[in-house]
Amino acid sequence: MGIAPRHVLPHDSYLINLGHPEPEALAKSRDAFLDEMHRCQQLGLRLLNFHPGSHLKKISEEQSLALVAESINLALEQSEGVCAVIENTAGQGSNLGYRFEHLAAIIEQVTDKSRVGVCLDTCHTFVAGYDLRTPEACRETFAEFERIVGFDYLRGMHLNDSKPELGARVDRHHSLGMGCIGWGAFEYIMNDPRFDEIPMVLETIDDTLWAQEIEQLYALQRPWRARTERRQISPVKPEP
Ligand SMILES: [Zn+2]
Repeated sequence: MGIAPRHVLPHDSYLINLGHPEPEALAKSRDAFLDEMHRCQQLGLRLLNFHPGSHLKKISEEQSLALVAESINLALEQSEGVCAVIENTAGQGSNLGYRFEHLAAIIEQVTDKSRVGVCLDTCHTFVAGYDLRTPEACRETFAEFERIVGFDYLRGMHLNDSKPELGARVDRHHSLGMGCIGWGAFEYIMNDPRFDEIPMVLETIDDTLWAQEIEQLYALQRPWRARTERRQISPVKPEP
């Protein structure tokens, strides 16, 4: 199946830290990020996914989040048409973005709100402490997301099961249905219209299972939500 350009969600380099506490390293990260925004622009892509950044225990979370927002503002001023998509994180080490409040704090400080959004990674969401194991838990977690960030800002989903337990703050993806989250969360997401038109990317660990995982995701759609163009799922090699 072809993937429409509007459903392509590239990921920036993992070395970029837009909340870096040191001016020189921050400037380098900002240059590299702007480069990636320009590359998307040249390719006619509208979205660039990135991890917000790390305070490296040298400045406060609030200070680092403000730097991330300023970094986004600078990149948006110098580019056109590409939306900066902040991915929620597992909260490993000093990584920011594991609380929905972090995402909201960044968005609040971004001037052009039409070009900032978020991507929810199911593994990161879960290990950050938001339960997804039952329909009730999914309802509560996404209600909290709606309340604090808002589905208007949702631009992408990374579909991954999790090796670590709820709240472990450790980032280890697993194949769908084989980790601590289970198929229920993915069934919920496939049937909730708030995820229509949202690009979905598998970052699961076994590429020999990707075709099966995608088939299974479509199979979980209830009959009245027949397989449509509104859902496009693409796999990608997970981060090293
Ligand atoms: Zn991800």
